[in-house]
Amino acid sequence: MCRHVAYLGDPVFLREVLIDPPYGLHRQAWEPRRQRHGTINADGFGVGWYAEGDPAPARYRQAVPMWTDVSFADVARVTRTRALLAAVRSATEGTAPDASAACPFGDGRHLFSHNGVVEGWPGSAADLAGALPPALLLDLPARTDSALLWALVRHLLAGGASMAAALAGAVRETTARTAGRLNLLITDGTSIAATTYGDTLSYRMDGSSVVVASEPYDDEPGWVDVPDKSLLVARPGEVSVRPLDAASLEEM
Ligand code: GLN
Repeated sequence: MCRHVAYLGDPVFLREVLIDPPYGLHRQAWEPRRQRHGTINADGFGVGWYAEGDPAPARYRQAVPMWTDVSFADVARVTRTRALLAAVRSATEGTAPDASAACPFGDGRHLFSHNGVVEGWPGSAADLAGALPPALLLDLPARTDSALLWALVRHLLAGGASMAAALAGAVRETTARTAGRLNLLITDGTSIAATTYGDTLSYRMDGSSVVVASEPYDDEPGWVDVPDKSLLVARPGEVSVRPLDAASLEEM
């Protein structure tokens, strides 16, 4: 089920994070190393990034595998950014197949991705819908479990939750109603929040940058594996990881 990655730090070309690394997202699209569910991620991809002087990110999303999109190779070669979030997709059965269903989803300055599945989809959608105002349900960007989770996160953000609290709340609301694998990833261009709930996640930081990814994109030292059921918050040069349990959520 999908792989995703987020980067914050010194300006980089998109290709330096996504295409150049030996096991970057481009390669993970056809040969992921740590994926537990699904084998390849060829059902589309998406990249969101922030350009200088504009707090709202641009998104480039396609329904084709990342390695077949020659235009993306060009865009990634010349586009520089301090912050990006990208995903390659292995679609869950019964979800929309088009580019609208490719993460990242976005709203304002946020970019969001889901790696996993809401069990029982699409039947479980009715259970989750109970946690949402109808206006957000009507505004779903795609017919997917991930879009419903994004609606839940948007709802919590609109209520004043931090990104970390919104992700934790979405996991809590979802698991109260149905099972799922819920590795969520969000950025606003200045920090990153992520959950692990059923799938892999690693991070690497140095003094001026941080990468959070479903799996390490190279074999260089510095990657740290995040335990399952964790909540991660990261800024360049600063990462915190804590258990995603009731006690830690109450503190937020
Ligand atoms: N279930 C979601 C979808 O179909 C996410 C799948 C994944 O982990 N890539 O898009």
